[in-house]
Amino acid sequence: MSDTDFIPVFEPLIGDNVLPLVSECVTSGWVSSEGRFITEFEKKFAAVCGAEHGVAVSNGTTALQVAVSALRLPAGSEIILPSYTIISCAIAIIEAGCKPVLVDCEPDTWCLDIDQVEAKITPLTRAVMPVHMFGHPADMRRLEALARKHGLHIIEDAAESHGAEVEGRRVGGIGDMGCFSFYANKIVTTGEGGMVVTNNAEFAERLRSLRNLAFRRDRRFLHTEIGHNYRLTNLQAALGVAQVDRIEQHIEKKRWIAAKYRKRLGDMPQLILHVEKPWARNVYWMCGMVLADNVPFNAAEFASRLRAVGIDTRPFFLGMHQQPVLHDMGLFKDERYPVTERLAERGLYVPSGMKLTEAQIDRVSDAIRKILG
Ligand SMILES: *Cc1c(COP(=O)(O)O)cnc(C)c1O
Repeated sequence: MSDTDFIPVFEPLIGDNVLPLVSECVTSGWVSSEGRFITEFEKKFAAVCGAEHGVAVSNGTTALQVAVSALRLPAGSEIILPSYTIISCAIAIIEAGCKPVLVDCEPDTWCLDIDQVEAKITPLTRAVMPVHMFGHPADMRRLEALARKHGLHIIEDAAESHGAEVEGRRVGGIGDMGCFSFYANKIVTTGEGGMVVTNNAEFAERLRSLRNLAFRRDRRFLHTEIGHNYRLTNLQAALGVAQVDRIEQHIEKKRWIAAKYRKRLGDMPQLILHVEKPWARNVYWMCGMVLADNVPFNAAEFASRLRAVGIDTRPFFLGMHQQPVLHDMGLFKDERYPVTERLAERGLYVPSGMKLTEAQIDRVSDAIRKILG
């Protein structure tokens, strides 16, 4: 490998164990949203999360949308979420007629700050949406206690954290509902895809209805509720079944990559790497890092210097309170979340894909040392 070879930030690993399954879809003609792989994928993935039910949907964003809708909250209900996240979370809340309320995140786990959640609870608060960030779980122990005390629902966004744990309990199966994405860069991928897992049979039933145009069982084409077509296909589910069978290997690889980077970069005062709290299992979806204050440039400059030597990176999220489209809706206009702003300005993630080699990790680490040296 030469110094100019390009190292992509991720490449999905699709094992050849998928081929007989996809081939079965093609030869049998079961290519749309019915077929045995859908139910098999739902069962297997729900089991991975320690949940009873899985409802497969078209992507992680629609998973969040049907999950919030399934709560059937009165219009104007408030849902608390971290400012530091993807816009999918805010969209799901707004589209259900609810009001997103932000809290900042923690500087080390990058997950929502539970102390701030308590401070934002009002008589209109009905739910909290923790986001398990970059593979690290939010502190669900404290959040569950808070939710119990105030009678709040919990919808977990576990899109980046397949298999992450809080004191041995898998994320997604802890709250009322847990939402996952199977986009190409996620730990289990179906290309595009998503799932909501739950231990509540009533929610599972509603989720199934909402993903399928809310057809009624008693009289097809009679509707008493608005649903959507958010179905996953059997072809995608075939990929999912093959991937979920290898999820532990994928997680081991992610943890191996993170450990290698830590070994090579962990001593640098210029960099803050992601943590793993003693109560948590971080699955290190991607290896994020944040420039310390003593570095005289920001993540955008860091990224362009890495790109110049053939190393691909991605920036961190931009805060929900920093989104013009949400300001236009009258949301978050004068709000400030300093930890989020700092992560957005100084954070990025480096190559962490399933096909990454030790030699590539060495080259990325050497380049980082040189740039920050
Ligand atoms: C990827 C992701 C989503 C959205 O998933 P899509 O499948 O891309 O719609 C939601 N939340 C988080 C935290 C994500 O990383």
